[in-house]
Amino acid sequence: RFISFEGIDGSGKSTQAKRLAAALEAQGLEVVLTREPGGSAGAEEIRALVLQGDPDRWSAETEILLFTAARRDHMERTILPALAAGKVVICDRFADSTRMYQGLSRGDLRALVDQLHDLMIGREPDLTLLFDMDPDISHTRAVERDSIDSRFEDFGADLQRAMRIGFIDLAASAPERFRIIDAARDIDSIAADTLATIKAHLG
Ligand code: C5P
Repeated sequence: RFISFEGIDGSGKSTQAKRLAAALEAQGLEVVLTREPGGSAGAEEIRALVLQGDPDRWSAETEILLFTAARRDHMERTILPALAAGKVVICDRFADSTRMYQGLSRGDLRALVDQLHDLMIGREPDLTLLFDMDPDISHTRAVERDSIDSRFEDFGADLQRAMRIGFIDLAASAPERFRIIDAARDIDSIAADTLATIKAHLG
């Protein structure tokens, strides 16, 4: 099964992805925990090209092409082989992040994101957990743990708020694929909720 975790910056999804992977492994399942951008050797190189250095190095269009190229490599080298081997794949961000980050920062490019996805990726996760929280809370938490990265500052509070609404709209447009997790609670409650949601899905 192919599960993705989505949410705004600082929503705690990476911590929860690790917790879920450990919990499923403890129950004897084979799990591949991976992330985007990245998740394969080539895609990690593309991640560095996109997220490090001068933010204006690439045009918005080129950036979408790079994210799509990274995703294609990640699918070919990591995700599809793991699914074929019967493993559970937990992916920290997937195409919905590109729909939101690139599609919202340049609204006119959202159609391009979807077209490239259809052309080169052509598959959605079986289940997507949206870790939903108020961006003001996630921002405060990120500042507290000093883990804010430059992109967060670039996107700014208004865009994070728009992104939260965008993610909720996306979830509403595909209710069979999405489950919304209230990520403003304590870590253990969220982990328990996450595990229960996944177990209900895995059956
Ligand atoms: O999920 P993670 O914190 O590793 O993501 C790293 C950064 O990459 C995020 O802060 C986000 O701003 C950025 N990103 C992006 N476009 C994507 C996915 C992530 O700009 N499609």
